[in-house]
Amino acid sequence: MLEKRQFYIDGQWVDPTETRDYELIDPSTEDAFGIISLGSQTDTDAAVAAAKRAFPAWAATPPEERIALMEKVLELYIARQKEVGEVISKQMGAPIDMSISSQASPVNIEVAIKAAKDFDFIHPIGPHAPTDRIIHEPIGVVGMITPWNWPISQVTLKVFPALAAGCTMVLKPSEFAPLDAMLLAEMIDEAGVPAGVFNLVNGDGEGVGSQLSVHPDVDMISFTGSTRAGIAITKAAADTLKRVSLELGGKGANIVFADADDRAVRRGVRSCFNNTGQSCNAPTRMLVERSVYDQAVEIAKETAEATAVNSAHEHGKHIGPLVSARQFGRVQALIERGIEEGARLVTGGPGRPEGFNKGYFVRPTIFADVSNDMDIAQQEVFGPVLAMIPFDTEEEAIEIANDTPYGLTNYVQSQDDAKRVRVARQLRSGMVEMNGRARADDAPFGGVKQSGNGRENGVWGMEEYLEVKSVSGWAAE
Ligand code: NAD
Repeated sequence: MLEKRQFYIDGQWVDPTETRDYELIDPSTEDAFGIISLGSQTDTDAAVAAAKRAFPAWAATPPEERIALMEKVLELYIARQKEVGEVISKQMGAPIDMSISSQASPVNIEVAIKAAKDFDFIHPIGPHAPTDRIIHEPIGVVGMITPWNWPISQVTLKVFPALAAGCTMVLKPSEFAPLDAMLLAEMIDEAGVPAGVFNLVNGDGEGVGSQLSVHPDVDMISFTGSTRAGIAITKAAADTLKRVSLELGGKGANIVFADADDRAVRRGVRSCFNNTGQSCNAPTRMLVERSVYDQAVEIAKETAEATAVNSAHEHGKHIGPLVSARQFGRVQALIERGIEEGARLVTGGPGRPEGFNKGYFVRPTIFADVSNDMDIAQQEVFGPVLAMIPFDTEEEAIEIANDTPYGLTNYVQSQDDAKRVRVARQLRSGMVEMNGRARADDAPFGGVKQSGNGRENGVWGMEEYLEVKSVSGWAAE
């Protein structure tokens, strides 16, 4: 049994102040394979105090020196990328090959370094330039709370822009996927990032997560996770008026017009099922123009039936299990609910796929003739479950796409340039991806409505951690 009970506070690995063991479960086998500790108030306080002490010196460190340390961490990260991918796979069930190449990709670190290099921390403004200036200053101590579904990706999207900005931080990774973040802490330590700049305390939402959210010495919370927890954190943070940056759930529409390319439906199903459907930006509602709807349902069925399900430990292209017993139960309940609500079950359905009697495996599932007011169209399922909805006109497609509490990513498939642009402009979401073109590596990531208010990645990701100071009467030179 792997034992990883310590926290990284003030440049040291330290024992928790109270014993609160938490077992890590391998979702492919349901076996416990590791133990971490859940932190308590004294651990949180120690980490916040270390971050507060380290802040003035780190904020005053020239950006080039901060960037040089980030580059050192990147070098160490690339050398250990395989190890990061392996622990992610074991903790949350992403298939090993995908986990190493995609889950553990260093791209967010690279993008943060580039954004920091290009950023002007002081610049002149207005008619009195150069004696009127804007200074971008770090906000202070940041509490970071991250989910399990793309664990290191969500951690690096926060830690590196914050380091570049000159903030100090306390990270609380998901209790389901803490080991990758602990490896990152080792790298940050080895790279020589000063003590207290980066701290890690494991814990759950009720404990360390809530303690950070209300802490008077935490200036900002950067949160990625469910809308439910985002609301709780916003309320908890209100009394201390901290900045709260939120990256929450999604229920993306993928609008497939009759003139979409041949691969559009197949691509949409695969994208929905990627990471076993556990992505906030998954295109989980496929809206199809009625003249090609029956054909699309047929292609979706074939694609789902061709989707292999297997253990996360096996090499190859397949989807793995869901992360936990709780998620398994939730997805099963929503599949049952879709049937009850009268959606047409085209393939998949309740239970595990054939050949599995343990592990949190689910059947790739397609529902057709879904009405957008059904729970399976409104709630984030977070499993390999696609809801297909027919539409007649462009206006109707836009209306259905926007009829959701969420607004993270929507998708459009059409070969008509003018139509695509027109539709993209009317979709209420932070991101729109069309004809299979993925966002650029340095594009901002974030949503509107109940998908949150933050923008991570690239220059936008760094600005989240900065305050703007306006200064007049600066020296002329
Ligand atoms: P979750 O909200 O249950 O947990 C996320 C993190 O918040 C964990 O670290 C958890 O311990 C902590 N937490 C839970 N309740 C808390 C509370 N009351 N106060 C403080 N912290 C609390 O979410 P999850 O199940 O880990 O992750 C899946 C969710 O994350 C999905 O809804 C998904 O859409 C969302 N997500 C969003 C993005 C994005 O960028 N928009 C990216 C990935 C995942």
